[in-house]
Amino acid sequence: MWRSFCTVVHWAEEQKKEAYHQRGTMDEPVYLDNNATTRPYPEVLEAMKPCFQRRYGNPSSVHQLGRDARNQLDECRKRVADALNARSPLEIVFVSCATEANALALRGTVSGVDGDRPHLVTSTVEHPSVLETCRTLEEKGRAEVTYVPVDERGCVSVREVRDAIRPSTELVSIMTANNEIGTRQPVEGISEICRERDIRFHTDAVQVPGKLPIDVQSPPVDFLSLSAHKFHGPRGIGVFYRRKENRVEPLLEGGGQEEELRSGTEATALIAGLAEAIERATGNREEVAEQTRRLREQLWTGLQESWGNRVVRHTPEEGSLPNTLNVSFRGRESDALLISLDLEGICVSAGSACDSGAIEMSHVLEAMAISEEVGMGSVRFSLSTFNTEEDIQYTLEVLDRQVDSG
Ligand code: PLP
Repeated sequence: MWRSFCTVVHWAEEQKKEAYHQRGTMDEPVYLDNNATTRPYPEVLEAMKPCFQRRYGNPSSVHQLGRDARNQLDECRKRVADALNARSPLEIVFVSCATEANALALRGTVSGVDGDRPHLVTSTVEHPSVLETCRTLEEKGRAEVTYVPVDERGCVSVREVRDAIRPSTELVSIMTANNEIGTRQPVEGISEICRERDIRFHTDAVQVPGKLPIDVQSPPVDFLSLSAHKFHGPRGIGVFYRRKENRVEPLLEGGGQEEELRSGTEATALIAGLAEAIERATGNREEVAEQTRRLREQLWTGLQESWGNRVVRHTPEEGSLPNTLNVSFRGRESDALLISLDLEGICVSAGSACDSGAIEMSHVLEAMAISEEVGMGSVRFSLSTFNTEEDIQYTLEVLDRQVDSG
């Protein structure tokens, strides 16, 4: 049994080598999974290096290396605040990732409420870091949560968010754009309603930098979450933006760093990388959005030519992230397609996953009322500035060979 497994793995590796060999790029797969994570910009690596070499002090130390680290940290905080148009650098809280930032917004708000169980409003298509946190808060009896549904484009309605609000609502948490299908949510209208009702508004903006404009004043938000590795920064660092007047309870207590909101010695190297990445992502956003939008159209046009009505598009044409294309290949299973593409040196994500032997459709496609038959064959292509027309051409050639092989 073990031997036959090894033989299959060996065969797969050989096939992969052969595919890479034909493309002449053994080291470089075609990476079309940029909503999962991105390749860091070389400038990001350069910005981080000194923090591992000479600038390695702890920003809380009073000696010269500590003061140097503190100055660098303050400077990075200001750069991030400027990139997000925050009113003060003190509104920027560095955390480990967006999962932590989302938890801080939700749990931190709930813990800060004295008295009755607070009510939260979110949507059915949020990232699991929001949905699972909400479910736990509900299960433990610490909050009541309304999950607003979405339409067939994966979009929430402002009216439904408004109707979900109760006198006990403390927070509305709706993502700016969806990571799986790319649908942009009507955050302007939601922000306006929250202002009118004096309710705090949190948005998970993880997929936004480098793809859509980002500005915490427009529309106004109270809390916002980011993760540096989604915009060509390092992994292990994120931002929790908090409008200054808003109170949240910390998840971690100790040394009182980050304005008492996130204790723990600051990850100065990662923060330097994050500051560099957010400036680049906001600085070249329009060009990159245009480049990825063009490549996405090339991909979609090519897919329609070879697959005809056997390919179904889930990502809306308008009102979506420019780099994202989520489609279903009718009659195929996502996992099998993903493996076939991987063997040819192409990295993508599957919209359904094999769990305990059964194929499970993504919660986002399910919320959009996509039938299981279609949703089971969903694949997400997510592009970045590092992709080229040749990458797309090669992907189309590989997929074209798949048309009749199912
Ligand atoms: N929110 C969204 C929309 C995401 O796409 C992701 C990651 O895929 C996260 C939150 C969590 O980010 P991280 O894993 O960096 O904490």
